[in-house]
Amino acid sequence: MTDHATNLTLLSPATRTVVAGREPRIPGGSVGSPLVLTSTYHADGEVVYARAGNPTWSALEEALGSLEGGVATAFASGMAAADAVLSLVPLGGTVVAPGGAYNGVVGTLRQRAERGELVVRFVDITDPAAVGAACAGADLLWVESPTNPLLQVADIAALTAAAHEAGALVACDNTFATPILQRPLDDGVDVVVHSVTKYLAGHSDVLLGACVARDDDVTARLRHHRLLRGAIPGPHETWLALRGMRTLALRVKRASANAADLAARLATHPGVERVRYPGFGAMVSVDIAGGDTEAGAAAAERVCAATQLWVHSTSLGGVESQLERRRRQSLEPQSTPVNLIRLSVGIEDVEDLWQDLSRALDAARPAEDGSPAR
Ligand SMILES: *Cc1c(COP(=O)(O)O)cnc(C)c1O
Repeated sequence: MTDHATNLTLLSPATRTVVAGREPRIPGGSVGSPLVLTSTYHADGEVVYARAGNPTWSALEEALGSLEGGVATAFASGMAAADAVLSLVPLGGTVVAPGGAYNGVVGTLRQRAERGELVVRFVDITDPAAVGAACAGADLLWVESPTNPLLQVADIAALTAAAHEAGALVACDNTFATPILQRPLDDGVDVVVHSVTKYLAGHSDVLLGACVARDDDVTARLRHHRLLRGAIPGPHETWLALRGMRTLALRVKRASANAADLAARLATHPGVERVRYPGFGAMVSVDIAGGDTEAGAAAAERVCAATQLWVHSTSLGGVESQLERRRRQSLEPQSTPVNLIRLSVGIEDVEDLWQDLSRALDAARPAEDGSPAR
């Protein structure tokens, strides 16, 4: 679709977010991406029915594929994209995955294991030797890095080499880092997975997912799965996501700078027991003073209820800063402390963010007599 004299691969990611997936530059042609709403096409074309393809999906897929360095396939949600990757595993096959991965992924793996569809081996993704050993006889290694919400970082290249040695495919959920900060396909990963809902779309107004692969056979299998299962993206959602993605590089840069600043300040606040921050990206998790106990959970709830600028909501990656005590979610793994608050740092002014957050932390701390401060 893109009709540039320029080879996109020679351009920096920031430029690619702007130029990839555009319409051909013909006189009178539209500069903005068209939103194509149709359920079917005139016969005898390449695509005959809209469950198989849509030009608005293609534009988003071209832009994301260019950023990740592969071929993208869009899905109705991040979970639909994860489901497509799991379809690559034969019935009864073995999947190795981090026990502290995104709760929806852990949930679907547990459910499939209970039904006897898959064998699942949960591992500590920060321990390459343990992951390598678990990969013996496995069909798929699922990597998430940094993880949601403990922000653990995996050595993607080392884990991928070990999994490939054992004959397993490797998928990597790149939702938190985005292709601006990390390109797993360059480390040999077979399929990158995104919740496009988060940073890629970036405005908390759509649910969407995507897979990106280099191997044509893998892409063909993912697309066949999409066609038959029907978890297709909506054209309007893909249009909004592509529009949001045009500013991805700017948003990630600004939000990451804010996160680094806030992580340093949080480390000195008496209301915070531990800061979890991998040193890059815009996600920061904090364990609120009071410990992994009922009292700690209650203090964390008070922090979330006391902010006025930060939005108390689940989800992440939007322009607005959001916070949530993760163990509110019923699917959340027990490895997440009950007093952990996940912070998705947005692009607001960092002084405003700190003022609101530090005030909420102060208000949530117990007074000398043990009662919550006012
Ligand atoms: C949100 C999320 C998902 C699931 O994506 P949806 O778009 O909500 O279906 C998967 N992985 C990670 C890391 C996420 O944060």
